[in-house]
Amino acid sequence: MVSTVQTRDVNNDTRKVLLSIDDLHVWFELRRFGFGRAGYVKAVDGVTFDVHQGEAIAVVGESGCGKSSLMKTILALYKPTKGKVIFDDKDLAELDGKGLHLYHSHVGYVQQDPYGALPPFMNVQRILEEPLIIGGIKDKEERNQRIRKAMDEVKLTPVEDFLEKFPHMLSGGQQQRVVIARAMIMGPKFLVADEPVSMLDASVRVEILKLLRGLQESHNLSVIYITHDLSTVSYFSERIFVMYAGNLVEKANVRQVLDHPLHPYTMALLTGTSEPDAKNAETFKELPPGEPPSLVNPPTGCRFHPRCSKAIKGLCEVKEPSDFEPEPGHLVACWLYQ
Ligand code: SF4
Repeated sequence: MVSTVQTRDVNNDTRKVLLSIDDLHVWFELRRFGFGRAGYVKAVDGVTFDVHQGEAIAVVGESGCGKSSLMKTILALYKPTKGKVIFDDKDLAELDGKGLHLYHSHVGYVQQDPYGALPPFMNVQRILEEPLIIGGIKDKEERNQRIRKAMDEVKLTPVEDFLEKFPHMLSGGQQQRVVIARAMIMGPKFLVADEPVSMLDASVRVEILKLLRGLQESHNLSVIYITHDLSTVSYFSERIFVMYAGNLVEKANVRQVLDHPLHPYTMALLTGTSEPDAKNAETFKELPPGEPPSLVNPPTGCRFHPRCSKAIKGLCEVKEPSDFEPEPGHLVACWLYQ
């Protein structure tokens, strides 16, 4: 029998833990007019992991799995229903307005839709200057220097060609470079990248992923990369957390997950991936039938059991699996590995 691990990551990373997610629950109350509470949407339902200084991790799952709610809670846009988000040894729930302002200066955010993320009536100069002004950089010359440095880093050069341009005058890839420059301009310790290439042309996706990887390495940034696409995670993620119906079902380093996935859901996600080294991909079955489950009334036992071709009758639909560790550092919440 393999060992059972209770929720905490298992790895030997000696770098400082920068972000710690501890038994996080994010539930949204449903109200029925005149009849009080109708239930809860359990978007995040008991998630635990650490991110180290300078580490890039990917959270992977289908739409509706809870990854966006997880991301917004990490960005302090949602409050946890239960559990904690600890950044640099501080509980986000205990930060006052000033503390939250400081926190947001340490966290950069790269949105999925660059055009929607950029104010249409501001040119690039103003878009990049605004966070510096809000951040208290009073000296105009210093602001200009930082703007030029950020644009140089994201390869919006020659800088003069872009400063006066408005978002609609830029290509999708250039817009995303402006979004990344804005995320980097306050010198963050930590970056949240929410599907940063999913709305871009295939031809620029790799360039943007390589740019993020380069910034992560040169600034020793911690990165959480949110995606539904396992084929892109190996560009700059060290570990992968696979999310299903509000839970993390598999946690391991990138090569373990891509070369030797253990959870039936991860195997299904890998079907059709274009990741060239996903050696087992061709052996996986089609994505299982059915939709991701309701987060209001998730299935009993293992939440994946209605879609799982390997479900163990009398067990999987009844009892929720613990995290098991069939190989060092590779955690999976599935009864096949008990
Ligand atoms: Fe499938 Fe059972 Fe594993 Fe869930 S616990 S993924 S139902 S085998």
